[in-house]
Amino acid sequence: MAEIKIKGVAKSFGAFKALHSIDLTIADQEFMVLLGASGCGKTTLLRIIAGLETPTEGEVWIGDRRVDHLPPRARGIAMVFQNYAVFPHLTVFENVAFGLRMKKLPQDEITRRVTRTAELMHIEQLLKRYSGQLSGGQRQRVAVARALAMEPDVILMDEPLSNLDALLRLEMRAELKGVLANSKTTTIYVTHDQVEAMSLADRISVMNGGRIVQAASPVEVYRNPAARFVGSFIGNPPMNFIPATRSADGRWQVAGLTLDGPQHAGDKLEFAIRPEDLTIAPGGLKATARVIEPLGAHTLVTSEVNGALFRAVLDSDLKVSPGDELSLVPKTDRIRWFDPTTSNAVREST
Ligand code: ATP
Repeated sequence: MAEIKIKGVAKSFGAFKALHSIDLTIADQEFMVLLGASGCGKTTLLRIIAGLETPTEGEVWIGDRRVDHLPPRARGIAMVFQNYAVFPHLTVFENVAFGLRMKKLPQDEITRRVTRTAELMHIEQLLKRYSGQLSGGQRQRVAVARALAMEPDVILMDEPLSNLDALLRLEMRAELKGVLANSKTTTIYVTHDQVEAMSLADRISVMNGGRIVQAASPVEVYRNPAARFVGSFIGNPPMNFIPATRSADGRWQVAGLTLDGPQHAGDKLEFAIRPEDLTIAPGGLKATARVIEPLGAHTLVTSEVNGALFRAVLDSDLKVSPGDELSLVPKTDRIRWFDPTTSNAVREST
């Protein structure tokens, strides 16, 4: 069983704190994505789990073994990186077999495993080719096949698709998902691409500034961001935010609209709504349309509400022109609230 437990892991590079006391449990066979902007610490966390970096504080457990003092090789993990490290002077077969030869497995077992993983990754027709002759996409398949051939308990992947062009990325993403869902490995996958994260993950850990802000299913991080950062980072276009003030009757004033909201000690909150959770109807937020972008089935309308940018994704049958005064009604059950002091979500206690 390869449950991974990260307990109070912190990492400093000199005076710079790259990770602040991370606690995270990844279930056996779970696909966990570490998602965040460049520099948030995702690679550092992955490298600590791999054993390529030592934590300044904390413990890493794989199954019932504490591994943070063990070398990478003793941890039962395989890794796939962005710059796939496929050896150009070896054939595809030998590249995939590389780790198995290091483990001194018998030749028939090596052949069995190489053949099986080559089939999984659709590179069986390339086994005799030298890797230097392969395209980027093919090399990436070889790198994944090499990791899978090890039949590891844990696979760590750091932006494995980022060198591929958009179409190939999409294809490989679906393939990876299929292959890994059928394997018994626990996967930790680093990306800064939220679409990749949403499509692959059982759970996403959203990181910011060396901390995990939220670890939850893709739907949960999208629908119920635990903090303002998550709402603004996930979703394209991102969530809209408007300052809200409590009125005497306990309801909330949002850009001229009065709404029911959560119980809250302070008299200020932030109202938040996703662009697709708005409709044009009377009695809504007063917005002035600025830029209209047809997206096919929908139209992205960037407008101004109280002088701040506000985006709505509307049905493309609705005719909107720049300068139009709109009334945008938020779907009540999709409204979220954040504490402007802590940036944390404030849930309605109903
Ligand atoms: P990216 O997506 O750009 O790879 P990341 O989220 O993976 O970003 P890390 O590579 O984990 O970020 O880096 C986290 C922070 O730690 C960054 O500010 C980085 O500059 C710093 N850092 C990483 N490795 C070192 C190092 N060896 N020495 C000093 N600082 C480092």
